[in-house]
This record gives sequence, C-alpha cells and structure tokens, in this order.
Amino acid sequence: MEFKITERIKGNYSILAGWVIDGMGGPVQKNMVIEVKDGTLVSFHKRKPGNPDQKYDLDFSSGTILPGLVDCHVHLFMSGTNSRKIRQGQLLAPFDSIRHAISLHLRQQLKHGIVAVRDGGDYAGHALRYKNECLGESGLPIMVKSPGKAWRKAGRYGKLIGRPPRNRETLVEAVKRWKDQVDHIKIVNSGLNSLKEFGKETLPQFTKDQLMEVCSMARKAGLPVMVHANGIFPVKLAIEAGCDSIEHGFFMGNENLKLMAEKQIIWVPTAYTMKAYSQYLDPADREVDIAKKNLDHQLDQIRRAVQYGVPMAVGTDCGSLGVHHGAALMEEIRLLMTSLNLEKTIQCGTLNGAKLLGLEKDMGSLTTGRPATFVVSKEPPSDLLDKFWRPFRIFIKGRPWIDNS
Ligand SMILES: [Zn+2]
Repeated sequence: MEFKITERIKGNYSILAGWVIDGMGGPVQKNMVIEVKDGTLVSFHKRKPGNPDQKYDLDFSSGTILPGLVDCHVHLFMSGTNSRKIRQGQLLAPFDSIRHAISLHLRQQLKHGIVAVRDGGDYAGHALRYKNECLGESGLPIMVKSPGKAWRKAGRYGKLIGRPPRNRETLVEAVKRWKDQVDHIKIVNSGLNSLKEFGKETLPQFTKDQLMEVCSMARKAGLPVMVHANGIFPVKLAIEAGCDSIEHGFFMGNENLKLMAEKQIIWVPTAYTMKAYSQYLDPADREVDIAKKNLDHQLDQIRRAVQYGVPMAVGTDCGSLGVHHGAALMEEIRLLMTSLNLEKTIQCGTLNGAKLLGLEKDMGSLTTGRPATFVVSKEPPSDLLDKFWRPFRIFIKGRPWIDNS
C-alpha cells in the first residue's frame, strides 16, 4: 500500500500504523492507532476490528512506528570521514568553520531518525558553544546535551576531547568551576582501547576518591557523569565511585559487568568503532586484525551483559574514523542485536538513551500523555535493519520535520 497523507497535518490527527515498537522493550504491536493532539500523544490503541473503512489522517499501515532515536555518544566537532586532510583540519579548526560541520552532522542525525544526541566533548568546547549560540537559529529540532570539554589527567590520553584541571586545582574543584555551564560531566579515566596490542590495559587516570568527589558533587548539582573507561581497573573505580554510565568499557571483565547490573549503571559499548576501524584502515595494517579481535571480544562482553542484566544504551562515538553521524546508529544497533531481540535493542536506542540525557519524559517511548516524537519507517519490523535504512517521516512533538537543505 502507498503511504498517504490525506490532510495537511494540523494540531490534531490520527495515524494508522502497521506495526509499533514502543521503546520500552515490549513486543511489536500490530495494527495500531495513534492519536495526536497539540503535539502530545493522547491515545495509543489497537485498531478496532469490524470497521475497515474508517479513515485515518495518516495511513502508515504498511510501515513501522518507533520512538525517535537517541545517540548517546557523539563527537559533534569531528566527521567520520577517512580523509586525513579533513580530519586534521577539524582538529584545529576555529569555531566559525566547525559550526558548519556541526550543523551538517546534526542534520545527518535527524535524517536517520535521531532526535537527541549526547556529546562526549571536544578540546575547545565547540559543541557546547554551538548548542548555546547556533542551535536555536539552525532550525534543527534535535536535542543536544554537551559536557563542553572532558576532564583528563595532565599528560594522559584525551587531548582531543578534554583538558586537565589547572595547576594545584583538584579534579572536583575544576569540575565545579564549570558545573553551571554544562549538561553533564565527562571524565576520561583510561587510555584509548589499543589497536597495537590486543587487550592492553592502561592505568586509571584518577583515584577512586577523586572520582567519588566528582560524582557526589554532580549528584547534588543534578548533573550526570559519563566516564570513558577501558580495562578492569579504570572501569571498576568509576563504577564504585557512582558514575551514571561507562563509555566503551572494552575489556572491563565479568566482575565489572556484574557490578553494573547490580547498580543498574548504563553501559554504552560503542562496538561499531572497532568494526569501522577494521573496514577503513589499510587491510595490510596489523591494526585491522586487532580491531576485529576487539570487536569480537566486545560482542562477547555484550552477550554477558545481557545475561547479567546490565542496562545498555546505543552510543556510536561518531566522529571516530569511519563512524558517520547518523548512519552509525543503525550499525551499532545491528551489533547489539547479536545478543538482544529487536524490541530490546530499540529500547537501548530510544528509552535508555533518553534516560541518560535526562529526557525520558520528552522522548524515548510511545506513551500517552508524552510528546508525540517518533519516526516512521516504510518497512515492516523485519526489514528495519536494512543496510540503507532511513526513516520515511520524522515527527517531533507532533510536527513533521521536513529537511529543506
Ligand atoms: Zn568518545
């Protein structure tokens, strides 16, 4: 059946959906009717049998509706391109040129049905500045949460995304200085996941006490703490300190996974980064083999995370080599689906992400009384993971987003 819009969409309208995925992990529901009033989802129920001629304003009876997607680990200042020239340029570019790249990245996110992103930081705080100075004017209806610059220890990994506290300043003092300007706090607590040596662990950047001081200050200020950590020890300290999410978590090990399940700390595995390295690096490069092994190991950890009950959210680390804004989200979803069913995976890419951004009342699930923010796919659920998936329509607070670029 053709998709039809029978009327101009105004404040109130009804939709017939072939299938609906609610974002809360519940089973796919067939033949659903959704009613929207003034931007709010006011009714969500099964189509009543015996009335096949009833007309709906929007007929998506051969497609699937799901909540707007959330990428909860992005780097808006960088593109996923493999052009060395562009990447080098972006690393040093002033705000005036980076802001154009950020607009482009956000447009790409929206085109792929992503309605909110959580930034992982950049050395200059460009993403935060963009959010404050340009997002409103851009007309792009996407939520952006940014930590500004991440925090790292002097002399350790993280130059591209953050900075260390000032001389003689403790970590918590430094973080506190910025607390009123940021949406969340990003701490770098290990090195990068090695592509030179499989499973190589690095030392934590901060002590458990330092991390605990930050987490308790952040809790009082109502700011979530996201921690970049790979390897057993750096992850363990972050969990014990009371962080809100572990980013990457390569080689964190079973004990940490069990602890995360117990404390219900959200894991953002960013597994696709390793697949992208294996596809974009020179095939003759030894790093390709390591990247593939890292990916397999991470998929194995994801399997165990599901077994133990660790909550996960979809974050792509887009801006990393070969990890493109927007398109990468479905790639990450595909990898999570090696261990989870479709509904639970979509939950990781919608509601769980929205929770990390503190936006679960605004998006992430199809719930009556909440904003009607959802995407429409032309495909049935079985074809949602098609290689070139793009949503057919995107609705934000009840309004369709039309890309005028
Ligand atoms: Zn990152």
